[in-house]
Amino acid sequence: MRLLFLGPPGAGKGTQAERVAKELGIAHVSTGEMFRSHVAKGTSLGSKVQAIMAAGDLVPDEITIAMLHERIAESDAHDGFILDGFPRTLPQAEALDDELGQEALDAVVSLEVPESELIERLLSRGREDDTEETVRNRLAVYSADTEPLIAFYSERGIVSDVTGVGDIDEVTKRILDALGH
Ligand code: ADP
Repeated sequence: MRLLFLGPPGAGKGTQAERVAKELGIAHVSTGEMFRSHVAKGTSLGSKVQAIMAAGDLVPDEITIAMLHERIAESDAHDGFILDGFPRTLPQAEALDDELGQEALDAVVSLEVPESELIERLLSRGREDDTEETVRNRLAVYSADTEPLIAFYSERGIVSDVTGVGDIDEVTKRILDALGH
């Protein structure tokens, strides 16, 4: 099963993607985690993306697409995966189509949380790139660049809207239910 999770920063996408991937026995592919790991290890990619992430901007598509390409070629992604944080722009979505074909995704889960709650959650989570200014920028970047992907995939009839409000277990159940599990 190949799944894609979409949702604004703070929606709980990463947490839910990890839980659902475990439940379904498929790989969890998080570009945000991959970038954070490069920064933590001090790789040359990490030094390129550190300031971009700290400002809440997007890493250039070319870098992100190349990293994703390598990741999904790894053996654990062979039997399926959840993409979390990729694609985040239309060119990334088009690159994914080129890579896998237009029919490849079985479902897209769109996790929905009201903006006021997103801001509250992001400011209380205390990650390095979660300052107030960065949070506002990330939400603006999400609306401009990533939200249009919901319409892009809706045209294929594969999007399930799931509300991300409620306790973590409850949201996981809702997602599994939407996926028919
Ligand atoms: P969140 O879900 O809170 O926005 P992520 O962990 O998904 O956080 O991503 C953190 C940061 O990593 C983003 O703000 C961005 O700078 C970078 N990033 C992650 N995925 C992508 C992507 N697909 N394209 C460009 N930048 C990305």
